[in-house]
Amino acid sequence: MSDRPVRTRIAPSPTGMMHIGTARTALFNWLFARHTGGTFLVRVEDTDRERSTEAAVQVIFGGLNWLGMTPDEPPVFQYARADRHREVVAELVARGQAYRDYMTAEELEIERERARSEGRVVRSAWREADPSTWPDRPYAVRLKSPLEGDTVVADAIKGDVRFQNSTLDDLILLRSDGNPTYNLAVVVDDHDMAITHVIRGDDHLNNAARQTVIYQAMDWEIPIWAHLPMIHGPDGAKLSKRHGSQAVGEFDEMGYLPETLRNYLAKLGWGHGDDEIFSDAQAIAWFDIKDVVSAPARLDWAKLNHINNHYIREADPARLAGLVIEILKRRGEVVRQGDETLITRTIPFVRDGAKTTLELADTVAFVLKSRPLALPEKALSQLTDETRARLGRLRGALTQVADWNVPSLELAIRAFAESDGVGIGKFGAPLRSVLSGGAPAPDLAGALTALGRDESLGRIDDALSLRA
Ligand code: GLU
Repeated sequence: MSDRPVRTRIAPSPTGMMHIGTARTALFNWLFARHTGGTFLVRVEDTDRERSTEAAVQVIFGGLNWLGMTPDEPPVFQYARADRHREVVAELVARGQAYRDYMTAEELEIERERARSEGRVVRSAWREADPSTWPDRPYAVRLKSPLEGDTVVADAIKGDVRFQNSTLDDLILLRSDGNPTYNLAVVVDDHDMAITHVIRGDDHLNNAARQTVIYQAMDWEIPIWAHLPMIHGPDGAKLSKRHGSQAVGEFDEMGYLPETLRNYLAKLGWGHGDDEIFSDAQAIAWFDIKDVVSAPARLDWAKLNHINNHYIREADPARLAGLVIEILKRRGEVVRQGDETLITRTIPFVRDGAKTTLELADTVAFVLKSRPLALPEKALSQLTDETRARLGRLRGALTQVADWNVPSLELAIRAFAESDGVGIGKFGAPLRSVLSGGAPAPDLAGALTALGRDESLGRIDDALSLRA
């Protein structure tokens, strides 16, 4: 095995979205590079000129950026390297490892038919032609693949995968329009980028056989292959639209944090025992390609939510407040100066049950309401004369609280209940409605602390001055 310094890459084709599978491939390449002290690279496979718009390319960089996995070197763009690809094709021809194929479209069609009926792959008569007889007309260039024996893809996850050479036709390297083909470009780029480990989805396993033959024809060192099992939906079928979201951007919009995705995606096909939650540092320390399982991984929303809740509880409130503000703006709500500070202060009281930042946005909403709050019917009916009188006395007690924080307020509320001779249940529900306008809210002391002294007393005053 080679002792070259580890260099990994992802090679996404810009399609306008970044698939969750691409994110997982990026993660495994990134973890492996970090684990080995290697380099993580990105190559944009932009040879499909119609799909590879500037916007589609930006979706990939945006996704990687959001996930916190930016490449260690500037990205490589495949299309810009077409001359280099053609140069290698010329070299393969010069080495006698490739040949010009002058079959016309009609001739190819006839050969295809014949190959089909004879149960073999397409073969061109030009394979054995002497280069001195090559005519001056359009041609494609094909690889002179071995006809006998096997090509073995020594895969770090799947083990040795054997392909009978008799089943591989001579791969076209250069089309008659002069454009290099996909498998050729991938090999040249991976070689030139000194990629040591090709870690990608196992939908590319057949390509690995094709690519191995090209490496051999060029006498280039073959990278270590590691083909990852696909991600399936919760029902075990290949992940598709009907399983819900598949694009990285959608997970962002649904209120998942990037560290959640990193932690969760690491568990899809790899894991560290039964560990549910682990940090980037732990994943980097533990990750190894040989521990990736070869069975397909299943997306599990309940686990994803559980992990997201964990990171929401851990995250810096100011950062979460920024995310909540974005959500509110997306919802078309008016965001005022000072709201972000208010939200930051409120988050510690409301985040425990939040599975997503969207839920967090719902649970902080009460603090953003403007006075006087519109009270729902139910809250109004709870405001009997007796309750009003009690809330009035409670207000008085609250004004005596010196430090407006959870422990002091809890103490004050308990002391008031005692002195008023009732359980907290007697006024807790109406007070919460008065403070929140019926929106979800934390417990009393939390709600009061989040609102602050003046706003809390003001909301109580508003309710007391309502006509019964
Ligand atoms: N461009 C390919 C894709 O998006 C990846 C090719 C590779 O990783 O070798 O599926």
